[in-house]
Amino acid sequence: MKILVINAGSSSMKYQLIDMENENVIAKGLCERIGIDGKITHKTHEGKEVALEVAFPTHKEAFDKLMELMTSGEGKVIDDVKEINAVGHRVVHGGEKFFQSVVCNDEIIAAIEDLSALAPLHNPANVTAIKACVEVMGKDVPQVAVFDTAFHQTMPAKAYISGMPYEYYEKYGVRKYGFHGTSHRFVSSRLGEILGGLEGKKVVTCHLGNGSSIAAIKDGKCMDTTMGFTPLDGIIMGTRSGAVDNSIVSYVAEKEGLSWSEMNNILNKKSGFQGISGISSDCRDLEVAAKEGNERAQLTLDKVCYQIKQYVGSYAAAMGGLDAVIFTGGIGENSASVRYNVCKDMEFLGLEVCEELCANASRKEATFNTENSKVQAWVLPTNEELLIARDTAELVK
Ligand code: ADP
Repeated sequence: MKILVINAGSSSMKYQLIDMENENVIAKGLCERIGIDGKITHKTHEGKEVALEVAFPTHKEAFDKLMELMTSGEGKVIDDVKEINAVGHRVVHGGEKFFQSVVCNDEIIAAIEDLSALAPLHNPANVTAIKACVEVMGKDVPQVAVFDTAFHQTMPAKAYISGMPYEYYEKYGVRKYGFHGTSHRFVSSRLGEILGGLEGKKVVTCHLGNGSSIAAIKDGKCMDTTMGFTPLDGIIMGTRSGAVDNSIVSYVAEKEGLSWSEMNNILNKKSGFQGISGISSDCRDLEVAAKEGNERAQLTLDKVCYQIKQYVGSYAAAMGGLDAVIFTGGIGENSASVRYNVCKDMEFLGLEVCEELCANASRKEATFNTENSKVQAWVLPTNEELLIARDTAELVK
């Protein structure tokens, strides 16, 4: 079975074609600048690469082109589009309606569209991509929606309700939804495979990338997570502020004469690593600058490690214990110093880590706790596309 995985944004579309016999990626690529001009970069498993500038007025033309590249010329990996059994779409927001992946029909597509108020930049793009696939491949090829929020739908109300008047939840669906659910589910279920199940296990998963979130997972189910109504909540990220005292927002807006949308832009695009360090949103740049003595780069790294440590502790308290901490995402998989600074001095919780093992744990499945540690510390590389493909294959079987 061959599954195409699509991750669509408003002007871009990432794709992977996965052979489910061996879960290998046959081809992958990126369509960019949709609605502006258009560019596609396509790579095959044999290392062949095609890069073209083509007009992409809409996602449909981009989809047409990627189908053409897969079936002809240098980038060819299949003889016919009909070899693709189904398409799995990453959909950002499933609201309270979707707690698992679903095969799309007109009603489901309309429901995803209805949730656009909660994810105005993402859900409309996801719907556009689903419709483009139906148009090009026909109605017989199943389109599956896999939601970023779905895994977090098991959170209890006390975790997801906000401190504001309840009527806003009733009127506008204002509550914590959580994101990166596919990644938290992928790495926690991988740990379940390794340990022979997650029954009775209390796990904290740290997905640390340009966007970051942490989740508390008990018996394989999400109990709490750091991102909230939007991905802005939680810890500091590349350019997002994470949670701040809400009064700061109106105070600074008034002082600086900023509109809501300007303030939103600052909180989402100019804060976090970028905003505190004043240097970069990229963790690697901050690590280099901090080594060279840059104090604000060091402060930024200290802050993010401090926040992650706080969440590990608070989620252990929320779950009544801790069996494992998992690190994943670009920072979680690569930065030994972030992992070590989060996990050191946590012996009171039963977590004891080895600095040398931690330094050698990057970019692979590895533990870095000591032999005596009651709590395991893991690096488990994430693979959201593979989980989308697995869900899709399972649903269309
Ligand atoms: P996204 O959330 O966009 O998928 P990634 O998961 O790729 O992002 O994570 C990007 C982050 O990972 C960046 O901050 C980058 O600096 C960081 N990163 C990548 N490699 C390393 C490394 N070797 N050491 C430290 N940080 C790294």
